[in-house]
Amino acid sequence: MSARRDVEPRSVPKKAQGQWALGYREPLNKNEQGKKDDDPLNVRQRILDIYSKQGFDSIDPGDLRARFRWFGLYTQRQEGIPGGKTATLEPEELDAEYFMLRVRIDGGALTAQQLAVVADISSTYGRDVADVSDRQNVQLHWIRVEDVPAIWEKLEAVGLSTTEACGDCPRVMLGCPLEGVATDAVLDAGPALRATVDKYVGDPRFSNLPRKFKTSISGCASHCTNHEINDVAFVGVVGPDGTPGFDVWVGGGLSTNPRFAERLGVFVTSEEVPEVWEGVVSIFRDYGYRRSRNHARIKFLMADWGPEYFRQTLETEYLGRALPDGPAPESSPSHRDHVGVVPQVDGLVAIGATTRAGRTSGTALAGLAALAEKYGRGAGGPRVRLTAQQGVVVLDIHPDDADTVVDELRGLGYEARPSAFRRGTIACTGIEFCKLALVETKGRAEAIREEMERRLPDFDTPVTINVNGCPNSCARFQVADIGFKGMITKGADGADSEAFQVHLGGQMGTEAEFGRKFRGLKVTAAEAPDYIERVLTGYLERREGGEPFAA
Ligand code: SF4
Repeated sequence: MSARRDVEPRSVPKKAQGQWALGYREPLNKNEQGKKDDDPLNVRQRILDIYSKQGFDSIDPGDLRARFRWFGLYTQRQEGIPGGKTATLEPEELDAEYFMLRVRIDGGALTAQQLAVVADISSTYGRDVADVSDRQNVQLHWIRVEDVPAIWEKLEAVGLSTTEACGDCPRVMLGCPLEGVATDAVLDAGPALRATVDKYVGDPRFSNLPRKFKTSISGCASHCTNHEINDVAFVGVVGPDGTPGFDVWVGGGLSTNPRFAERLGVFVTSEEVPEVWEGVVSIFRDYGYRRSRNHARIKFLMADWGPEYFRQTLETEYLGRALPDGPAPESSPSHRDHVGVVPQVDGLVAIGATTRAGRTSGTALAGLAALAEKYGRGAGGPRVRLTAQQGVVVLDIHPDDADTVVDELRGLGYEARPSAFRRGTIACTGIEFCKLALVETKGRAEAIREEMERRLPDFDTPVTINVNGCPNSCARFQVADIGFKGMITKGADGADSEAFQVHLGGQMGTEAEFGRKFRGLKVTAAEAPDYIERVLTGYLERREGGEPFAA
């Protein structure tokens, strides 16, 4: 079957958008110039040869604030700088001489040995701080450039890396933590995910994209990797002839212009995933908008093109063949995680547990690795997974050991039988380390969670409370039941004070919609529990039967 051309894009931008495929090769902003000047992947050698030996002050600014990201390194926020003051500061005033280091963990999949190494790095080089991100990465803090070579050596010795963990490139690829063991999965997407990672991460053909590129490849029945908000997502479905494969979604993303991904309407087999992924990311590289950073994600191209034109371009210009039509997922829940004791296909169980709004420590991660070693019964060795809800999962536990493992997880700070509030609260990095932050997040999220557990101890309905330090929405405020977006407001005395804009009633799934922003509705951190209590108490009074929470 050959591909035909008969569809037009939905709209064409009035002004040229710096698309390479249309001949606009001259960089139109400093980020594009920096990528043109030198492939960001080349910075690795300079870190090894120069910067780690000569120290922070030797780092070229173009490397420090741009190319370092391709290896997961962001400068950390200087301590003590309040939100709202950053716009008036020079970059040097904002940068601490320490880094956040993101370890990419595709599919959130770790052996106990790999996790022990990450834990050791946190304790040895990162003041024992570790965050599980909602993209299944581990983020370390307080990292010195002098220590990066030793850290890479330790990571690479166990098959991990920080390559393309940040930057305008293919970042970590999400996968279901129960991939390969879930009893209700549509298919095991693990092989397709690993083949795609192995083939393309670090490939210089894709190290200069217009912006970041987020991927999900999952066969999870509850869609725990949130395909709707990825740049490209392969979603497990049963194909036209009863064979499992993937439905392809393109163009999702949050930040300041949130957009849900749209289906291309094609059916892709597991073996075809890498090729189709390459086609989609190549379209983004060649046709993506490079004029403005704020307009460069693939969602803006999809908004203009529409899924029919996107599919046609993929088939005619990149694959050279038509893909068969395929079905959409049958249904999709709005609340998604893998918390609790869950049966595996082989008679063992997986045990999923929450962190504290993503925050954990090297010491706790080492304990988690040891626990997996002690109780994991998998034929391939002990395994741990990280989730897109900032949680952890220990695989391959004998059912007789489940209660013991739940207790030992609790001792490490991981809760497998959490309250609705602990289960549903996530937070981004916030002002503690993030240079873009306006407000503190992780501590606030924990304080809100504790207060809500005290006020509504019997609240038993899934609810998501997503706390974000700025409009970039790293913790997805637009798709939470109760989403908090950090902002600076004027207090009664006229001084700047931290607050949250509230977004209410967002969700993903079959009824996906973005939360509504009520004009003027902002709360301080201290007021947040009162506000949440009012909303949830109203829900409890109104609900009928098992009706889920809907703001
Ligand atoms: Fe930083 Fe903003 Fe992202 Fe939070 S949402 S981690 S404050 S950029």
